[in-house]
Amino acid sequence: RTRSSRLTMTVQIRPALDSLPAYAPGRTVPGAIKLASNELSFPTLPAVSAAILGAIGADASGINRYPDNGAQALIAALSTHVGVDPSHIIAGCGSVALCQQLVQATCSEGDEVMFGWRSFEAYPIVTQIAGAVSRRVPVTAQHALDLPAMAAAVTPRTRLIYICTPNNPTGTVVHQQELLAFLDAVPENVLVVVDEAYGEFDTDPDSPDGVALATSRPNVLSLRTLSKAYQLAGLRVGYAVGDPAVITALAKVAIPFAVNSLAQQAAIAALGARDELKPRWQQVISERSRVTDALRAAGYEVPTSQANFVWLPLRERAAAFAAHTEANKVIVRPFSDATGGVRVTIGSPAENDAFLDAARSFAL
Ligand code: PMP
Repeated sequence: RTRSSRLTMTVQIRPALDSLPAYAPGRTVPGAIKLASNELSFPTLPAVSAAILGAIGADASGINRYPDNGAQALIAALSTHVGVDPSHIIAGCGSVALCQQLVQATCSEGDEVMFGWRSFEAYPIVTQIAGAVSRRVPVTAQHALDLPAMAAAVTPRTRLIYICTPNNPTGTVVHQQELLAFLDAVPENVLVVVDEAYGEFDTDPDSPDGVALATSRPNVLSLRTLSKAYQLAGLRVGYAVGDPAVITALAKVAIPFAVNSLAQQAAIAALGARDELKPRWQQVISERSRVTDALRAAGYEVPTSQANFVWLPLRERAAAFAAHTEANKVIVRPFSDATGGVRVTIGSPAENDAFLDAARSFAL
């Protein structure tokens, strides 16, 4: 008999977790091209590698000590980067940790968190974990967030609203004018988070500047990450810019020492390498339009994306499409339900060609 076979289920797990799905990340399959998690597929920049290796040192000394809990050097670098006082900024263990902190900081049991659907699949998970209630407002027929419908869906229990722009997974953006009208319609005691995880790939001149909004309106917060454009997904660094009172509340609900010492140093170096990264973002942007055109020519519906991925609203055929590309050694991200589809990260030109070959040979 093994130990586990003698265990009986006596531990009481919160009933609220019974229906909670675990977050299902994009899969990594050895030998296959991974276009499932919206990472950049470029190698790490030499300046960033050097900073990481320098931070750890040949003997890895210093890792017996806790990191700076306030990540002061990183916050100072972010302050310069976004042009905002450090009191308006917090860093987190990826922006997804900040999503969780945002619900913890704003919602009591039964309060409501609103977001478009589809949008980032962690929003309903962090909401349910906190004992709060998700309000999913359907996207439009053009796969864009429906801001008037979201404004109309606010209730006295609404505490937090996620506006993801460009939206994961549909790639669509909200425009500055419609966002301003939305903010004017939403009560000022509701926190509106502009999740700009993919902002660096957005070339739409009418897109809002989340940081400018967050510094002019106390109930707006800009959420950003170094996982995508800054290529640090493996080190987990995100940040938020908002009113100091909100930032203080987010710090209270943070796990202590959330951003490790290596991640803090790497993030500072990556921010400093922005000018070297920009040509890479440009390549993603031009590949995005090449991939979009090729898919449309092959008969697919593809909403115009401002992110580093494209969305194929294939609904219940999503799983079959993903299985077909996987058979062709390309891993994409299916969401297999009535509002589902397939999200495909823009990779290198060769990776995109392999994906397009697979997509063209799928029986639409
Ligand atoms: N927001 C959005 C919209 C995302 O797509 C993601 C990652 N998929 C995140 C936040 C979280 O990213 P990270 O935790 O790596 O910063």
